[in-house]
Amino acid sequence: MNSKLQIKSVTLADKDMKSGLFQYIMTLADGSKARLFYNSKPEWHLTGVTRLLNVPCPLCMKDYYCNCFEKNAAFFDRQVTENELIPASMRA
Ligand SMILES: [Zn+2]
Repeated sequence: MNSKLQIKSVTLADKDMKSGLFQYIMTLADGSKARLFYNSKPEWHLTGVTRLLNVPCPLCMKDYYCNCFEKNAAFFDRQVTENELIPASMRA
């Protein structure tokens, strides 16, 4: 998988317990940032990823909107799971 998309950290940005929607900001090793959207209902799952335009995309180098992060959503989700980047304390 693409080493340019290694997640360095994830922080909780917003949550709505009623709807089960959680929003996080993830930072990649190269400084790229993106919003991760998760829904805890009925089961915990990633619903979207949106790159923030703070630096050019590490894949296509565009400094405006592209779909690279969306295309790699499953890869980000796997990293979050395997590295426990969103622990239980950040899901409640
Ligand atoms: Zn791109």
